[in-house]
Amino acid sequence: MVEARRPMNLYELLIAVLLVATTGCAPTPSPETPLFDADSRIILEQDGPTEFIYWVLPNDERLWGADLGEVPSLMTFRDSLRLVLGEQRFLGTVEKESTQGMDTSIIAMETNGDRINALLVHTGTLGSIRPMHFLEAQLLNYQISKYPFLGHPTEFHAFIVKNPAEDTLKVYFGASDQPWPPKPGPLIKEMEKDLANDWRLIYHMHDHFEGEANNHLGILAPSLADAQYYQWLAEDFGLENALITNGMHTVVIERSEFDTFESH
Ligand SMILES: [Zn+2]
Repeated sequence: MVEARRPMNLYELLIAVLLVATTGCAPTPSPETPLFDADSRIILEQDGPTEFIYWVLPNDERLWGADLGEVPSLMTFRDSLRLVLGEQRFLGTVEKESTQGMDTSIIAMETNGDRINALLVHTGTLGSIRPMHFLEAQLLNYQISKYPFLGHPTEFHAFIVKNPAEDTLKVYFGASDQPWPPKPGPLIKEMEKDLANDWRLIYHMHDHFEGEANNHLGILAPSLADAQYYQWLAEDFGLENALITNGMHTVVIERSEFDTFESH
């Protein structure tokens, strides 16, 4: 038989509030453990493998640096990709997907919108490709710790909002076990409250992957649908930058470039 619980006294209530406050926040980045995990997330909606969640964390300088911290699932992906492709093909694929040195004259010969966008990045016309940074690596690591990036690739998306006065970030995150992310309704609804209260939408982020025929590594450029989505996020929510990562590199796209990509 379950005993009826007596109401908490003030001291117990204070402890409970403190517990929620501390476990509800991701800790300051530590090199020893992955930054994002199930214990530190705050759940907005969850339906089986589909989750709409967020984390709150201090805007630590390390988040924006090239040291990736502890990302075991990302390291497993990289290691597996190297084994599956073989050393030479692995290096060639990584190089091909990260180069921005292609000749611009090839853009005019392309008619497919998605491929034009890829060429705009790979010719160095738009966007900036660099190795992944800490925050991106940690977010991808969270998703691929549930569904391995090589054997069961999935696309997540994240909205990173910042409160400049408090120097605090919230990372809104939506994903499932499917190749495409769930529609972001629950994330947007919650984020809108922040944006009405001095928070800024500084980044949208998602991942790209490819099938075996294209050596698995995702294209570092927005699709027609991505470009259209960025324009909408900029107009309605003031999106400042967009990030797309493939597990090796990330392309950074500034707001001023959103309109220049081909879009739906
Ligand atoms: Zn995309």
